[in-house]
Amino acid sequence: MNTNKSAVSKSTEYSKEIPLVQIRNLKKYFQVGNQVLQAVDGLDLDIYRGETVGLVGESGCGKSTAGRTILRLYEPTEGEVTFEGANVYKQSTSQLKQMRKQMQMIFQDPYASLNPRMTVEHIIGEPLDIHRIVSGKQRREKIVELLELVGLNGEHANRFAHEFSGGQRQRIGIARALALQPKFIVCDEPISALDVSIQAQVVNLLKDLQSKMGLTYLFIAHDLSMVKYISDRVLVMYLGNMVELAESDTLYREPLHPYTQALLSAVPIPDPEIERNRERIVLQGDVPSPINPPSGCVFRTRCAHAKEQCAKEKPVWKEVKPDHFTACHLYN
Ligand code: SF4
Repeated sequence: MNTNKSAVSKSTEYSKEIPLVQIRNLKKYFQVGNQVLQAVDGLDLDIYRGETVGLVGESGCGKSTAGRTILRLYEPTEGEVTFEGANVYKQSTSQLKQMRKQMQMIFQDPYASLNPRMTVEHIIGEPLDIHRIVSGKQRREKIVELLELVGLNGEHANRFAHEFSGGQRQRIGIARALALQPKFIVCDEPISALDVSIQAQVVNLLKDLQSKMGLTYLFIAHDLSMVKYISDRVLVMYLGNMVELAESDTLYREPLHPYTQALLSAVPIPDPEIERNRERIVLQGDVPSPINPPSGCVFRTRCAHAKEQCAKEKPVWKEVKPDHFTACHLYN
């Protein structure tokens, strides 16, 4: 499946020729009693060096599970992920430990992800100690350098995580993720738990760090306005399935899939005139259970365009316009 891009990104320069991460037919199912929960049901994506791919969808659509499975925090049910050409799932424990230096994660809730009994120095220094990167005076210098990189300072090193605000805690989480100089970071809803006023600061910090350090991000979120701001391309998921992928600007200007159209119609536009006159698409019903997803198109129970074919056949993922992919029978 070709998910390559051919245009230059709006926010960062990256080469479309060199995928850093390649994901092929990735599935992650969980056993729940006697039943199977299909959290991720077939993910195909190339993520290029220096690129940010936004991964969006409602809560429970499988996006966080996808991020964790890509990093092998969960073992996959099926499929393959390669990082710099090496299969992530075929690494031995010691090889995986080395690979993990290059692939890090920033977590959603900075309150929950940082140990309240550890000092900031301990939190950021822990990965340095596990991988025996530096010790003694150099360790302290490295921690101060990381704190300064994320907009904090050396005096913060001796304090405990609970002494910081939400935005500062997320900066500590980012410093910890950067300690091993990774190339790829899965940002799992890194701004969802923060006040709106702080969200833009954290997103700007991530963008700055990307250009300074050549980082590649998978940015998971449900806030579509921030995703547009940071992402080069955006992938929309629904009930474990990919529904649309395009350049960020294209997706927001011309969404093809009925689910993407509904998601975008709920994003506020900062122009009262346009905001007043535009049409909102209200999705009917609840998201079905991933234990028993609908036949054919998984979105059909909520789609205003559903037809007979949608219950019978799963729509094929295809490139409808250059670099613009979707899975919907309206485009077959
Ligand atoms: Fe709607 Fe059918 Fe397209 Fe699914 S395949 S989004 S049900 S029109």
